[in-house]
Amino acid sequence: MFLQKTIRKRAQVQGIGLHSGAPCILTFVPAPAGAGVHFVRTDLPGRPSVRAHAFNVTATGYATTLGGPEFSVATVEHCLSALSALRIDNLFVELDGPEIPITDGSADQFLQALLTVGMIEQDQPRKYCSITRPIYFSEGDKQAYVLPYQGLRVSVTIDFPHPAIGKQKFDLDINEQSFAREIARARTFGFIKDVEELQKRGLAMGGSLENAIGLDETHILNPEGLRFANEFVRHKALDALGDLVTLGLPLMGHVVLYKAGHDVMNKLVRKILESPDSYREMDLGAGLSESTKLRTDGW
Ligand SMILES: [Zn+2]
Repeated sequence: MFLQKTIRKRAQVQGIGLHSGAPCILTFVPAPAGAGVHFVRTDLPGRPSVRAHAFNVTATGYATTLGGPEFSVATVEHCLSALSALRIDNLFVELDGPEIPITDGSADQFLQALLTVGMIEQDQPRKYCSITRPIYFSEGDKQAYVLPYQGLRVSVTIDFPHPAIGKQKFDLDINEQSFAREIARARTFGFIKDVEELQKRGLAMGGSLENAIGLDETHILNPEGLRFANEFVRHKALDALGDLVTLGLPLMGHVVLYKAGHDVMNKLVRKILESPDSYREMDLGAGLSESTKLRTDGW
């Protein structure tokens, strides 16, 4: 049986928001067993908070935003992605501004901050959301589905009509080590032709080549180039893992995505939650083969 986890002590990450451009200090704070993951706006009266849950997602254009009528927390997915890979069940993510720092456009700084303070097991067993029947969602040419799988696996395909991207595929069995090695450092990306339009709408105000891969009509603009030949599709896997945290329970399943962004991920997660005959909540332990226990060790 695996026990729930939180972090040993507080950890901080600072920066600016990708879309708002606003400076922000994020503080990871240990949370009690059974609490789940919550974002707390410490800059607002009464310190309002929101749980990382699909039904609390209020916007999915260019980033995932959580909140309610009075407040929001934007661009949560890269931070959540690190929590997903480390299988951190309970955490308060305190924030003194409206948007999670973009850092370098990847999940690496969140991962490093969490690994530096380390994690502790708590006194309650972890429940997994274990997929028992395929669940499928599609919208236009975008597709997302999740299949039964004894572990957590993502298979992502993207297809951008751009000479530097094109069609890319990526498939990975997720654990702390594989995430750190293959996904955590993959950066977000954006097209220069879209920036003016986005900035008119108050988006991408903090975007730069310091925190994103920038592309013109034909080329990558960053002088340092790419971190992986297929960094774009790896980043989509990073985003998807972050959005999966909004299930409220760690997933045991195989997520397959084709051209799927935050909007489709939110709809897939909602569909899972609305399909109780297609998953069951279970402890990981009894009844599983030894190889599965080994594969999932460290979750
Ligand atoms: Zn992203």
